[in-house]
Amino acid sequence: MAELEGLHFGKSDFVLLDEVTMEQFLENLKLRFEEGRIYTFIGEVVVSVNPYRQMDIYGNDVIEAYRGRELYENPPHLYAVADAAYKAMKRRAKDTCIVISGESGAGKTEASKYIMQYIAAITNPSQRQEVESVKSVLLKSNCVLEAFGNAKTNRNDNSSRFGKYMDINFNFNGDPTGGHINNYLLEKSCYAVGDLKGVCSEDLLKSLHLNKDPTDYTYTSQGAVAMTVDDRSHHRAVMSALKVIGFSQEEINSIYKILATILHLGNLKFENEAENVQLVGGDLVMHISELTGTEVESMRKALLYRTVATGGGEVIEKGHSEQEASYGREALAKALYERLFGWIVGRINSVIEVKNYNPALHGKNTVIGVLDIYGFEIFDNNSFEQFCINYCNEKLQQLFIELILRQEQDEYQREGITWQHIEYFNNQIIVDLVEQPHKGIISILDDACLTVGKVTDSACLDSMNDKLGHHPHFTSRKLTPTDKTMEFNRHFRIRHYAGDVMYSVEGFLDKNKDPLFQDFKRLMFNSSDPILKEMWPDGKLSITEVTKRPLTAATLFKNSIIALVDKLACKEPYYVRCVKPNEVKSPMLFDDARCQHQVAYLGLLENVHVRRAGFAYRQPYDRFLQRYKMTCEYTWPNHLMGSDREAVEAIVLQHNFEGDVAYGHTKLFVRTPRTLFTLEQERTAL
Ligand code: ATP
Ligand code: MG
Repeated sequence: MAELEGLHFGKSDFVLLDEVTMEQFLENLKLRFEEGRIYTFIGEVVVSVNPYRQMDIYGNDVIEAYRGRELYENPPHLYAVADAAYKAMKRRAKDTCIVISGESGAGKTEASKYIMQYIAAITNPSQRQEVESVKSVLLKSNCVLEAFGNAKTNRNDNSSRFGKYMDINFNFNGDPTGGHINNYLLEKSCYAVGDLKGVCSEDLLKSLHLNKDPTDYTYTSQGAVAMTVDDRSHHRAVMSALKVIGFSQEEINSIYKILATILHLGNLKFENEAENVQLVGGDLVMHISELTGTEVESMRKALLYRTVATGGGEVIEKGHSEQEASYGREALAKALYERLFGWIVGRINSVIEVKNYNPALHGKNTVIGVLDIYGFEIFDNNSFEQFCINYCNEKLQQLFIELILRQEQDEYQREGITWQHIEYFNNQIIVDLVEQPHKGIISILDDACLTVGKVTDSACLDSMNDKLGHHPHFTSRKLTPTDKTMEFNRHFRIRHYAGDVMYSVEGFLDKNKDPLFQDFKRLMFNSSDPILKEMWPDGKLSITEVTKRPLTAATLFKNSIIALVDKLACKEPYYVRCVKPNEVKSPMLFDDARCQHQVAYLGLLENVHVRRAGFAYRQPYDRFLQRYKMTCEYTWPNHLMGSDREAVEAIVLQHNFEGDVAYGHTKLFVRTPRTLFTLEQERTAL
């Protein structure tokens, strides 16, 4: 298994580069990719390049080779990181987390699945039934979440439209006892509905008032996939996963009904008739009300009117304009989908949450968290979604700086080692630019959304310019409109840690507001379908009781990311950085420019610098001695020295490594991994 450090496969740890330059980094990454070595270390971080082909490196034999071993004993692999996190959790009772980042299609979700699979494989050797069932639910939950939260995009055939953080709980034996899933910012589109019709039986379709042709439905006519054998087996897998997790037939029926409702809503049309907006096609409303367990008349009303409370406490009905009606319908479809997804996550959580755990009886409950979250996004046109995603990456970068540097410094201090502090860019200033109360971009956006009357996106931009004009990481410029369609073409630019991004403000306010009329919430809350009703607890309030505006999308997202960072900050972090080699899903092509871009914004060069400034490896004296005593005449066959530390000093001296190590109170610190490789080679040569 030991990988030869020949030139052939490049350097298995970027710390070993002769010089830390972008050229050398890319050259090494490319060489290894072309040799089928898709993983490379930066110390304990794994850099992964999507191979876009099946690799024979995930079998049980490989799992066995990594199980319980030290990081540098095997070639770089996700399993090495998974094992390191698991060992820290089990041996030192540390909560750990594995943060997987990278752009769309870089292989994050696949990596998270291999990590889960590894943890499942190495735990519960005695095959206890209750642990096996926890594991199977944890693994199956992925399949369900993917079915509802993934979509085919032009960047990835199986793109996760949500960020996911999963905690796995372990008992003192190191066996999984349960878990918890958090999801972040599901992109509000009705993606997964497209799969529905291809895979339903005729009877079921009939009861849902659907027909088989996806082109009949607005939401699926663009990009709907034709039914394939694959869809059918996929559908069966999802259904079986739902059942394993414990969804009842009734719940599954409700899921179908909600998905069908969304499709029907997409086909609903409105027209203006003598100043009044009317619905076109009465059948659709009947189907929709039947599927949602609501009265036809109430549904019709909610689609055409909204109730508003006047200042005097009077309640009046106000007819929609055609545009408002379409807008409302669209918002309802999106909200139905979003709440369905949230409800499914909640149901899974209720099944996997740790029950009856008694720390007095069972010992400390430890956690490994796995985060699979969208990386930095820079497109030709960046909108509200990219703004949120990039803010999230600023927060994670801040955490990375905090944890990696803090941890290193803590350990050096504890061990009495002096080290050179290294300079790095602290991106807190950008985090503040976005999230600071009263002054930050989110706060300005929220103010604009809460203002009564019509505030436009560009008025909001003006307000940002006024308040943030002098900020070193914020610039705004008015692009000269070259034609009428450029009217809205107003942007602001954030100088992110990973590069400059121009955001178009168009649509920011709408996307930030909760666009759903209260009438729909009340209607859904009053549904005769108890499962649907459960998804709309906020519909309980009557119009006069609704006093507070719901939190805006940006604020909700900000709160959830702050909570996420708090969760991660108290854990020992491990990182997987995913790189997408090309835009065409090719297993052969290494697109230098694209890779360089990702290496830059993932901060990988800085990562190598940090790693090299400190000590790559450290080991307690007794362990070091145990492993390498045979390479030194003073310690082999008999250990003639006094303490373990003295024996280790003898080994270091014999190999002339003095310049490369430092002696801590309990551990030996080794600056470059090469030293260890040399020792390893000598060890195996004996
Ligand atoms: P998104 O942000 O869009 O969700 P992602 O980073 O999660 O993207 P994945 O869905 O994990 O990307 O990977 C995209 C595709 O690349 C997979 O469907 C698979 O075909 C291929 N792929 C990724 N990793 C591997 C791997 N280790 N081995 C083989 N194929 C892989
Ligand atoms: Mg994904």
